[in-house]
This record gives sequence, structure tokens and C-alpha cells, in this order.
Amino acid sequence: MELIRPLKDEMLAKLARLVKHDSHQGEALEGKPFGEGPAAALAEALEIGREMGFRTVNLDNYCGYIETGAGSDIIGIAAHLDIVPAGEGWETDPFTLTEKDGWVYGRGVSDDKGAVIAALYAMKLLRESGVSLDKRIRLILGCNEESGSLCMKHYNEVEEPLTSGFTPDGNFPGIHGEKGMCAMVLRCSSSKIVSIEGGFVSNAVCNHCVTKLEAESVSPDKLRHALSRTPLTSYSVTEEDNLIVIDAVGTAAHASTPLLGVNAAAYTLSALKEAGFKDDFVDFYLDRIGLACDGAGLGLKISDKYGDLTLNNGIVRMENGVITCTIDIRFPVTYTCEQIKELAAPYLNSDKGTVEILRLNEPLFYPPESPLVRGLYNAYVEVTGDSSIKPMVIGGGTYAKSLPGIIAFGCEFPDADNHIHDANEKLDIEELLEQTAIYTQAILNLMQN
Ligand SMILES: [Zn+2]
Repeated sequence: MELIRPLKDEMLAKLARLVKHDSHQGEALEGKPFGEGPAAALAEALEIGREMGFRTVNLDNYCGYIETGAGSDIIGIAAHLDIVPAGEGWETDPFTLTEKDGWVYGRGVSDDKGAVIAALYAMKLLRESGVSLDKRIRLILGCNEESGSLCMKHYNEVEEPLTSGFTPDGNFPGIHGEKGMCAMVLRCSSSKIVSIEGGFVSNAVCNHCVTKLEAESVSPDKLRHALSRTPLTSYSVTEEDNLIVIDAVGTAAHASTPLLGVNAAAYTLSALKEAGFKDDFVDFYLDRIGLACDGAGLGLKISDKYGDLTLNNGIVRMENGVITCTIDIRFPVTYTCEQIKELAAPYLNSDKGTVEILRLNEPLFYPPESPLVRGLYNAYVEVTGDSSIKPMVIGGGTYAKSLPGIIAFGCEFPDADNHIHDANEKLDIEELLEQTAIYTQAILNLMQN
């Protein structure tokens, strides 16, 4: 750390140069598959790499890399320069790095531009330390992490594979497993519901749902009573134009942690059933999706020692008399797509509706005792002295699923809340320096693996 601290100002100056580019995905242009912003951020990062004396390569503006060392093996660090849109609610300009009380603010500082700077300085410290770099260290800079990771698909097509490495786009002390994913859609055309509209994306819990029924089809008082017994944040039952309108507000949460949310559609439908509304769709929904978020209704209530399967319903829509519901499943890391298909098969069709599997993705899993996980974890413990928390398994997906040989490692510290994807995204400057120290040690450990 005593070698890193004096570098703080120049590190922040370089971070400011990355933050000033609004690098969220734009319209594809000739030679710029993700638009102007990501290409400009990539050019800037490669320029910074050149100024620091490293080799740089631009891979058709999909991604690029900054490299040092020699040898046939490559230790890769896969970070990303693209961001999600700045959105509303900022107290500072999201594209001007702003320092305040030991923190810096700006879109991308924690996800993932700060990690780019930390990795670059880890490379610099290693080069200057005198250790012989008999493996190459390659900082890969992706430009499409937030919208599909096509950048890494391109990398795999045109470049050498990595020997090992990490993506600094998750959490410390490392993520040794990422659950498998399965996207499904439930459809039903047998319903007395006049209209239903809930949720905004498939990968978040449906947090708002408006349902319309014909008057007389259910008792508004019974319905209010049933709704009052749910965890909904708020609800109203009104009668207008011979219709009963139920407006239910729940709580959004990421699809990988659906139990942290309250599904407005699911609780509306369970209240309808409790109030005596008899309906094929309501029955089919509660049977297959239900309230538990555990996949039981699809034969998928499974778990392993690293975690449970989770199920999320994000969107409910009615169009031309057909109600569709999105289902986002994250399944345990020791299961395969094939097993999921087999387990769910008996539950997909019924006389009330259908469930279709749209996509399946295999999980990622490295045993905690594997050299990769141990090498990274040991670096975290050596630098922070914290061995109380172990590498984990998550339900989300990182570059580790796109690039063989790596896992997510940092850059968020345990219990940090850096407002990633939210207004006022921030980064603790002390943590940026600590990240740099951890990455320096991590690369050293992987060199010796
Ligand atoms: Zn990210």
C-alpha cells in the first residue's frame, strides 16, 4: 500500500478521463458496433495504456487489450468500459469525476471503470517490482458487458484464450460459481380477466400490476380483505365503467434474489383466488409460478450446498386474449441444462395453459479448493487480513461465463453499496487503492500457479 498511495492523484486523473465518456450502448456505426460512446472510451483507455508504456490492441471496437510481460501463458483481467445510462437523480454531473469526503462520484466509477485503473496500476507495480514476468498480463477492455457481452464473443473468435485470470466486475473475495439460467414464458388464453399489466423487465421482480375484471365477478370487499393480508406496499380496488380495477404495488428486486422483492402480480392473483374468483389463468399461474419463488410448481425445487434454485416472474401482459408471463430461473451450479429440461418436462403443458423454455445457459463452477479460486482468495486475505468471508456463488452472470478460465473477483468489497446502476454511483478512494494492492498480489499468485 505504501507504494500505491503516492499514485492516488494520477490514478484519479486517469479515472476522470474514462468517466468523461458517456459509454452506454448506442446505435451501431461502421466499425463501431456499440456506437460512438464505447468506442471513444476504448480509445481513451488504450491511449492511457500506451502512455504508461504498455502494448495495446484494439479488436474492432468490440474490445481491446493492454498487455505487458512475455511468454505463452496469459493471465487475463477482463473489465468493461461500457456503462448503463446515467438516469435521473444525480447530485453531481455523472460524467465529471467529482471528489467528496474520500469518495469519487460518476457513472462507471465502480462498474467498471475504477477497476480498469486499479488493474492498470497493478500491472505497472508488477512491471516495476523487478519480478520476472514470464507470463503475459493482459487487461481486456470490453465494450458491451451491460447489453449482452458480444464483445467477449468477438474476443473468443479473434484472440488467444486466457490461461487464467479474473473479471473485476463482481465481489470480493471472489465468485467461484454463477448459477445456470433458464428463461421461460407461461401462456394462458383461458381467463375472465379483462386486462392485466405488470412489471417492466424480465430480470426484476414485478413491482407494479394493474388488473381489470368485470364488475360482479368478485366481491370488492372480500378482495380488499384478501389484499390487506399480503405484503404489498400499497393497493387499491376501485370500480369504474362496470370494471373492478386492482392497482397493486410491490417491491422490485433483481431476478436472482426474488425473495427480496414482493411480486405485485403474484399477490394480486393469490388475493383474487382467496376472494373466490374462479379462473383458469389464476389457477395455472399460482400452480406453476406461485408465491414461493422456488420453482416447485415446475418440478424444479432443487438446491445444492452452494444454493437454491430461484424463480422470478418479471412481466405479465395480456394481448389479444392471451396472457403471457416471463419466468427467469437461476439454477444451482452443480446442475446442468439437460437436468433442468428433464425435471420441468412433465409440468410444461396442461389443459389450462403452457410453459415454454426459451433459453438455457449452463452454470459456471470452480471448486473453492481449485488453484484459481485459492490464488485469488489468498491475495484478498493477504492484503486485507480478512478471512472471515469465503468465496461465494451468485445468481447473476459476469464475463466469467463468456471467457473460459476466469472467475469474478472484486471489485466491490463485502457490504459495500456503491450505487451501481443507480444515481450517484460512487467509489471509496481508499478502496480503489486497496483493490490495486489486491490485484497486484492476485496476478503474482496466478503467475505462480
Ligand atoms: Zn459491470
